[in-house]
Amino acid sequence: MRMTAVVLMLGLLTAAGCRETDDSHRRSQYLMGTVVTITVAGLDRDDADRAMNAAFEEIRRLEGILTFFSEDSDLGRINAAAGERPVGVSAETIEVLAEARRISDRSGGAFDATIGPLVSLWGFEVKERFVPPKEEIERARTLVNWRNMAVDPELGTVRLERRGMKVDLGGIAKGYAADRAAETLRKHGVSRALVAVAGDIRAVGEKAVGVAWHVGIQHPREPGAVLGSLKIADRSVSTSGDYERYFIKDDVRYHHILDPATGRPAAASRSATVLAPTTTLSDALSTAAFVLGPEKGIALVRSVPGAEAIIVDREGRVHVTPGLAGKVEGLAS
Ligand code: AMP
Ligand code: MG
Repeated sequence: MRMTAVVLMLGLLTAAGCRETDDSHRRSQYLMGTVVTITVAGLDRDDADRAMNAAFEEIRRLEGILTFFSEDSDLGRINAAAGERPVGVSAETIEVLAEARRISDRSGGAFDATIGPLVSLWGFEVKERFVPPKEEIERARTLVNWRNMAVDPELGTVRLERRGMKVDLGGIAKGYAADRAAETLRKHGVSRALVAVAGDIRAVGEKAVGVAWHVGIQHPREPGAVLGSLKIADRSVSTSGDYERYFIKDDVRYHHILDPATGRPAAASRSATVLAPTTTLSDALSTAAFVLGPEKGIALVRSVPGAEAIIVDREGRVHVTPGLAGKVEGLAS
């Protein structure tokens, strides 16, 4: 299901008339549990390949540091030491956790990187498809609180204050990886590229002189259809949706974006798309805006310089920030 956003995006690049020019090269790899697609324009094949290889390698390296699923990753070690001691971690982990804390603060905790106990309980990762008992949701919920995560940039350490706490960077790490991959491409002489880590997309420069990159936004209820499309250059866009990982039981859709306030799947939105200067920011903000829903979500995004949003609410109504009014192509309402 995670593939839809990427496949759709690629389809749209063609459908929208932004066909690959002769000098553009595209490759995909399966990394961070999803499909990563990099498109490079303006270089010959050998130079583009070298740059793309380096960018994929950078994402693989970050996955090794930030994954929730390994005991040896920075995250695995932080989580294993919860309630016991601070853990020394890489500069990258400090950077992404510091940004996660800022967004947690700004969003009043709608985004919370200590969501791990709830994510594990709901078990979307292991395909256990049942609604956990109320008491267990409550117990996990009391462990979720970013204020109990101490990040010390000077010492390079992270400490979780309570036993059982767990950091999960599913809502921000793909965006961070897209930013780092974009940086790697630039270091290799790339000035035009699109990096898509599933629904977290970073545009480096324009596609060609005067031609922006064209990105489709997945329709949350019509697989393979677009809600609308955006033109971006040197900017990032991320979408969070309730259609990516979910199960339906007794006519209720249970999906993977959880509201820390209730411990249950957030119910106010179908999808939230955020544009921002970096993908780290657009990724975290899209998750936060999804949880907050149209009113508070739009207010949050408006408070962040350079950010814009499109939120589809639970009834399917579309809300956009004033800066995007009239700029989303094909938007029905
Ligand atoms: P995204 O698709 O970027 O919105 O990220 C969703 C992923 O982020 C989930 O699969 C969880 O790993 C994690 N997550 C779920 N709920 C939250 C939340 N409220 N705050 C931060 N991360 C979350
Ligand atoms: Mg996100």
